[in-house]
Amino acid sequence: LSFFRIAVVTGGNKGIGLEICKKLASNGVDVILTARDEMRGKGAVERLSRDYGLTNITVHQLDVTDPSSIETLAGFVKTKCGKLDILVNNAAIGGFELSKPIDEKLRQQERAEIFHNNLIESYDKAVNCLKTNYYGVKNMIQAFLPLVQLSNSGRIVNVSSTLGQLQKLNNEKLRKELKDIDNLTVERIDDLAKSFLESVKDNTVEKIKWTDRFHAYSISKILMNAYTRIIAKSYPSVMINCVNPGYVKTDLNFNTGALTVIEGAEGPAMVALGEGGPTGQFYDRTQISFF
Ligand code: NDP
Repeated sequence: LSFFRIAVVTGGNKGIGLEICKKLASNGVDVILTARDEMRGKGAVERLSRDYGLTNITVHQLDVTDPSSIETLAGFVKTKCGKLDILVNNAAIGGFELSKPIDEKLRQQERAEIFHNNLIESYDKAVNCLKTNYYGVKNMIQAFLPLVQLSNSGRIVNVSSTLGQLQKLNNEKLRKELKDIDNLTVERIDDLAKSFLESVKDNTVEKIKWTDRFHAYSISKILMNAYTRIIAKSYPSVMINCVNPGYVKTDLNFNTGALTVIEGAEGPAMVALGEGGPTGQFYDRTQISFF
C-alpha cells in the first residue's frame, strides 16, 4: 500500500481538470492525470513538470465511455497503488454545438449571451452526453469504489453544475421523485436516462417538462447528482460529493465563462483534499449548497 495519497482525475489534459491535477499535486498528492487521448495527456503532464516543477503526476489513458479502458486503469491502480484516496470525476461534454462562431473580441457577457442563444442539440449529441456525463461517472464509481474503500480517507468528487440542481427540472413529479433519496433506486435513474433520450428522439422534451435549456447536459448532471446521493448513503465510509466549479472559461462553453480555470478548480480541489467533512453534499464552488 502506498504511503502517499493517490488521486485519479478524469479529463485531466485541459480545462478545469488540468488545474485540479495541478492543485492536488501541489498539495503533495500523487496524481494520475487521465486523458482519453494519451498524447494530449502526456503533453499536459510535461507542461506541469516544465512550468511548475511538479514531478508527482503521471499519465494514464482513460475514456470514461469505454468500459475496457476503465477496467485497464482500475487494474493499473490496484497493482501499482493497492488503493485509491481521491477520485475526481471531471470529464464531461456539453452535448451541443454552436450555430455561429463567437467573436473573441466581444465582451464576456456578450459572448455568453451568444452562446446561450445559439445552441444546437440533437439526439446523437444527447446520447453521447448521457454516456459520458452520467454513465461514465457511474461506471467509474463502480470500478473504483472497492479501491477507494481501501483508503483510510477515501473521497470521490463529481464535478457537477448548477444546471444539475433539481430546481432546473420543470416536471414537479420527477423533481419530487429524485429528491426522495430514500425511495429512489439506481434502476429508476437509469430508466429516467432512457426515457429522456426517448423524448429527445420524439421531440417531447418540452411536453414532459424536462429542463428549459442545455437539455441533455442538464439532465446528465441531474442524474449524476441523484446517483451520487444514493452512493453516499450506501457507502458512509467514503466521502462522496458533487461540486459546481462555477462558470469557467473553457472549451466546453466555447470560452464564454467568466471565471479562470484556477478559480474553477478551487471548489473541486478543496473538497478532494479535505479530511473528513460531509458526504452526499452539493457544493457551489467552495460553499455547501443544495441539490
Ligand atoms: P473542457 O471541455 O475544457 O474539458 C473537458 C475534459 O473532459 C477534457 O479533458 C476532455 O478530453 C475530457 N473528456 C471528454 N469526454 C471524455 C471521455 N469520454 N473520456 C475521458 N475524458 C473525456 O471542459 P471543462 O474543464 O469546462 O469541464 C470540466 C468539468 O466541469 C465538467 O464536468 C463540466 O461539466 C464541469 N463544469 C464546467 C463549467 C464551465 O463553465 N466550464 C460549468 C459547470 C460545470 P478531450 O481534451 O480529449 O476532449
